[in-house]
Amino acid sequence: MPFIDLASQYAALKDRIAERMQRVLDHGQYIMGPEVAELEGQLAAFTGARHCITVSSGTEALLIALMALDLKPGDEVITTPFTFAATAETIVLLGGVPVFVDIEPDTCNLDVSLVEARITPRTRAIMPVSLYGQVADMAPLNAIAARHGLPVIEDAAQSFGATYQGARSGALSTFGCTSFFPSKPLGCYGDGGAIFTSDDTLARACREIRVHGQSARYTHTRVGVGGRMDTLQCAIVLAKLERFEWELQRRREIGARYSQLLDGSGVQLLTVRPDRECVWGQYTVFVERRAEVQAHLQAAGIPTAVHYPKPLHRQPAYAAHAGDAAFPVSDAASERVMSLPMSADLTEAQQDRVVEALRRSLA
Ligand SMILES: *Cc1c(COP(=O)(O)O)cnc(C)c1O
Repeated sequence: MPFIDLASQYAALKDRIAERMQRVLDHGQYIMGPEVAELEGQLAAFTGARHCITVSSGTEALLIALMALDLKPGDEVITTPFTFAATAETIVLLGGVPVFVDIEPDTCNLDVSLVEARITPRTRAIMPVSLYGQVADMAPLNAIAARHGLPVIEDAAQSFGATYQGARSGALSTFGCTSFFPSKPLGCYGDGGAIFTSDDTLARACREIRVHGQSARYTHTRVGVGGRMDTLQCAIVLAKLERFEWELQRRREIGARYSQLLDGSGVQLLTVRPDRECVWGQYTVFVERRAEVQAHLQAAGIPTAVHYPKPLHRQPAYAAHAGDAAFPVSDAASERVMSLPMSADLTEAQQDRVVEALRRSLA
């Protein structure tokens, strides 16, 4: 059983993907071809953001958003230590300082009640992560940010398609940044990502930064990067969008069925807040004796993963930024989280096997 079943998805979309790719090969506009604008239009409409700027990865999306905000060395960005390294990496790459704030124990998202105390005169932005496909608590976070005149960048790499109070992840704050890494809820066949914003000036800055800071051909108005998403990758995402609503529905159903089947099993489930629809970028639970449980599941042919075994304040590259601060909730989560096989094509029979093996491993 695969951890993420990309083969079944490909089998279902094979002809559409081939057609879309063939069209690119025929017109030959491999960079910034018509599929780029077509995808940006569809994704902006889907999220409700005024602008979508496709870029070469989710990491590049975060980096370009911070560059558009003109992050300077020494500027502080408030974020979570319980995330993939890319979140803090982009801050540090620009000379910024990640200021970590601990997470909520039941969602693993930024604990918004701890944010305001960490704002200083050097704070330049707040970067929550919508982990496992559930949006962070954006409304109170946006309110705090507005009080202090700060922009909010949602790291929506795992949450594309999720909703918060009826609005889509990515369109909930100054910027939303997502990833089309193959294993994300909406993936391409390589690296890709997108920035969402409804601010015209920031959107323009992102478009320029994406192409080496050019405001016109060979006019380099600012320092930028080579951060475009390939036309071929955009074509693949366009093909995948054709059944994306169905996939989101399946993800919600499979997530709900896992939660129902695992109720009372001894694993602790993630809480999904009532004002949110989770897309289960990962279906993650909390277990005791995780290494043993994982070994037991592996022996039964069930792959699992840990997102993430070490929070960033315990990573050599980022520990210095944490100073003496403690992040006990992140530490506790990192020892207990375990992700189960999850994708839109996971069958009920496969899911039953996962749950049965997991229950046996806990007995
Ligand atoms: C995947 C991921 C990223 C980075 O996306 P890439 O496309 O791999 O660069 C950033 N943040 C989080 C939370 C992620 O899961």
